[in-house]
Amino acid sequence: MDCESVKQELYVYLDREQLTVFRRRQITRHLDRCRNCSDLKEFQEMWRTVVATRSQDPVPEALRRRIDDLLTSALDEEPGTH
Ligand SMILES: [Zn+2]
Repeated sequence: MDCESVKQELYVYLDREQLTVFRRRQITRHLDRCRNCSDLKEFQEMWRTVVATRSQDPVPEALRRRIDDLLTSALDEEPGTH
C-alpha cells in the first residue's frame, strides 16, 4: 500500500470493524515501516481522545503540545499548503 491509500483509510482503520482483516493487516504493516503514516495515526488517535474527553476535562497541556508538534510536522510534509 502507498501512503495515500493509508491516509485515506486511516479514519476507517481507527473506527475498527469497517475493514477486512486483510486490509487492516496491510495498513498495520505499512504503519510499522512508514514513519510519516504512523505519526499521522498517532495524531488521529490523540485527536480522537481529545474530542472524546473535551466535553468533560480540559486537554492536558503536554498532550496538546504533542498534537501541535504532530500537526505542524504533518502540515510541513504537505506541499503547497502554506
Ligand atoms: Zn506511509
